[in-house]
Amino acid sequence: MIHGNSTNFKWQRVVIKVGSALIAPDRKGVSSRYLLGIAQFIVRCREMGIQVVLVSSGSVAAGAHLFPDVDKPSVSVKKAMAAAGQTEMIGIWNNLFDFATAQILMTHGDLRDRERYISVKNTIHTLLENGILPIINENDTVTTDKLRVGDNDNLSAMVAAASDADVLIICSDINGLYDKNPRTHSDAVLVPEIREISKNTYAMAGSEAGLLGTGGMRTKVEAAEKATSHGIDTFIINGFSETAFNQLLAGQNPGTHFFPVAKPMKELVHWMTYTSDAQGEVVVENDFEFDMDIQSELLTSEAIAEVRGQFTVGDTVLITKRDGTKLAKAVSNYSSCLLSFIADQDDDSFATDFQSNTGSIISPQNMAILNNKKF
Ligand code: GLU
Repeated sequence: MIHGNSTNFKWQRVVIKVGSALIAPDRKGVSSRYLLGIAQFIVRCREMGIQVVLVSSGSVAAGAHLFPDVDKPSVSVKKAMAAAGQTEMIGIWNNLFDFATAQILMTHGDLRDRERYISVKNTIHTLLENGILPIINENDTVTTDKLRVGDNDNLSAMVAAASDADVLIICSDINGLYDKNPRTHSDAVLVPEIREISKNTYAMAGSEAGLLGTGGMRTKVEAAEKATSHGIDTFIINGFSETAFNQLLAGQNPGTHFFPVAKPMKELVHWMTYTSDAQGEVVVENDFEFDMDIQSELLTSEAIAEVRGQFTVGDTVLITKRDGTKLAKAVSNYSSCLLSFIADQDDDSFATDFQSNTGSIISPQNMAILNNKKF
């Protein structure tokens, strides 16, 4: 929680994300060159009573040197690099601390399943309560295109939300977000504060990915959007610079500070909006609008034009209009099977009777209105 301005930090729980370029800067396995400064920052935070969660990329970059004959690694070789590099990386992190660390590997498939998400959340909290440093990475070996987050910037924002952190620090190889690409524009200026993430913020970030990892400035802004909408202060800083860490510890902003939104989303709505994946779609007529005043009748079966995909009670569904407009994400209180059956009935009284016994199709507290956000 930041008090007053951005030079007086009072944190309780920090998530720090470290990328591949810091872990294996020479592409010759893990190097402790930059990790020492980051480890020192983590130790100092803990001494100040701040709990820390570390999201560490770098397994692929760390393992690459073990496959010297591979010039352009295939997906399966990258997975092997990740499996081998992960042990090397976690070993080095573990040796840098004189307190216990714990490894958590996860995929998007884990995070978007509510029960597994809660399990991850509980484990992080239990580790922190016991003074153990969670070190988190995506489980690259078991991911598929459908199951992966794909970059650890977005993963770190999901972890920050699951950890109930109050600050997310994303280490970059430049000082923060610039108004244009500083690598190609010598007059680029660092943007110290972003109070509201807009199209312009994404335009400044561009689309270039880093050399070693999968993220770039764009994924860092995406992460900042996810985190700040959960009420989490987010910083992009230069992870190569010890001064940046010292500034943070002194309560100064060394990079770009993204301010949390004024009205953070509730936990479940945030998870639905940014982490869960819709298992199906409920299509409504084009003239349909949610009447938020009639809380109990947010979506009646008469409004449903079509049910797409297969989902069960408790799954997240996308609510769209026939013209494709995305209206909301919501937890369905009905299965796709039952919902299709009800929607197919010519006689409205069947639906009305059914709903008056079984309850509404979606509950207002389990719904996130999309407001044209990207997903
Ligand atoms: N999980 C990947 C790794 O450990 C990193 C993903 C990223 O670069 O953000 O290599």
